[in-house]
This record gives sequence, C-alpha cells and structure tokens, in this order.
Amino acid sequence: MDNGLPPVVFIGAGPGAADLITVRGARRLAAAEVVLFDALTDPALRELAPQARWVDVGKRGFCHATGQTRINALLVKFASQGLRVVRLKGGDPSVFGRLEEELLALAAEGLTAEVVPGVTAAIAAAAAMQRPLTRRGSGRSVSLSTAMTRAGELLATRSADTEVFYMAGRQLAALARRLRDAGWPAETPVCVVSRAGCTDQLSSDHRVATLAEASVLHSGRPAVVTVGVGAAALPHVAARQALRTRDPACVPATRSVKTPNP
Ligand code: SAH
Repeated sequence: MDNGLPPVVFIGAGPGAADLITVRGARRLAAAEVVLFDALTDPALRELAPQARWVDVGKRGFCHATGQTRINALLVKFASQGLRVVRLKGGDPSVFGRLEEELLALAAEGLTAEVVPGVTAAIAAAAAMQRPLTRRGSGRSVSLSTAMTRAGELLATRSADTEVFYMAGRQLAALARRLRDAGWPAETPVCVVSRAGCTDQLSSDHRVATLAEASVLHSGRPAVVTVGVGAAALPHVAARQALRTRDPACVPATRSVKTPNP
C-alpha cells in the first residue's frame, strides 16, 4: 500500500454492541474500502464505514455458511486489487476466530496484515455480570475453551480455576455431563450469558449438576458458559441480580439465582 499500512486489517468488533469496538478499530474501519464481516457483528457498525462495500461472510454454525476457503479467497482477491480491506470479526480475532487460516492465506500471496484486538465474549460476560474472572487468592488462572472438537464432539476440561466455554450453547445438558467427567464437582457454580454486552443480553446461574436447565433460556443465542471461581457472584452483586431477575421476562434466570432473599 502506498500509505505504508498493510492492505488487510483484522478488527475485533467486540461481542455485538457497536460501541464496544476499540477506538483504533473504529479508525481503521472508517478508512476501509471493503469490509468482510461476520454474522455476530453489530449492523450499527456500518455507520462507521458508509463509504465501504460491505460483504457478509457470516458463518454461524447453524445458519447459512460461507466456507472458510471462500473467505480466504475474497481477502486475497480484494487485497490484491490494492483495496483497503477490513476483516471484521466478532469479539477478538485471536479467539476462536480462525485468524490463523486467514493470515496464512494472505502470507501465501505475499500480503501483510495488521490485527486490532477486540473484546472477547468471555470478557464481555465477566464485565456485564461484574464477576471478575480472576480473584485474589482463589482464582489464579483462566482458560478459554471451545466445547466442540473439530470432529463435532463435545469435550470439557478442568484446566484452570475459571474455565469459560465457547460454542456450547446448543449442548448445555451434554456439557454438564462432560464437566462432571472432567472432575468438576456437582456444586461448582456455572454462569451462562448469551448475547453478552448487547441490549438483549440474558444470564442465568446454575451448578454443574443443574446446567441443563439453562438450555431453554439461551436457545438459539450465542452464549458463553463460565465455570468455577469466576462464575460466582460477589455477595452484593448477587443480591442485586436476584432482585433484577424478578422481571417476568427473565423468569428462568430468577429460578436459578442461588442467593438468600434480600
Ligand atoms: N471471536 C469471538 C468468538 C467466536 S466463536 C470472540 O472473541 O468472542 C463464536 C462463539 O463465541 C459463540 O458460539 C459463543 O460461544 C461466543 N459468543 C460470541 N459472541 C457472544 C456474545 N455476545 N455473548 C456470548 N457469547 C458469545
């Protein structure tokens, strides 16, 4: 590029609310000529780059799919034409974003890229719930895991004090069983947050043994499942969240909030 910038910029759009993109991400987006975007990015982000051609390459597991090969080819095609290309990804590009494949596809054609980080879903959920993922003295490690293997099997691990599972929303009952198999005690707190950081966010509290009950509330919505130390509500927040979930729209969450009545 004649301006010295790489032709392709990967931008983490954040978890779904347009204002959770970083300032740098918004600046790079405003300079884009082509934007390849994912299904989980907020349509309101278009206002930041009305001049650009927006190409939907969304691929949620259960909606329409644009193959990864096609995405790689589009990136190479537009960048080779000398266009300023933005690859806008939900959350952070480096977390379950298949960034490696896209970077490699560009590198194979001698094309360079820049990566602008974003707020990943686990972090958005922790912020929204006011439940720190690390806790002094009790929570020294955090693991971001996918519950799905490449072969489509469900796997759970117990590798950190707080384990956050992505892509398990449709199989919460099975995840509960796998968590037990992985050695998590039945009483371990589990917090499920779907559409974290968005205006229609939903959350619910469970134990490993009762996680299956979260399935209905979060059905069809992107969700992260936080297990262990980081899933536990702080005492003052727990009381407030129990009150707030008296909202009839959140009945299933109310039932599962395990706090004494304030
Ligand atoms: N790169 C993304 C993750 C993409 S994988 C990130 O950093 O967040 C897609 C999975 O991310 C979904 O199945 C779900 O588990 C999670 N996810 C994405 N957006 C979410 C949101 N707003 N709330 C809860 N989970 C979300």
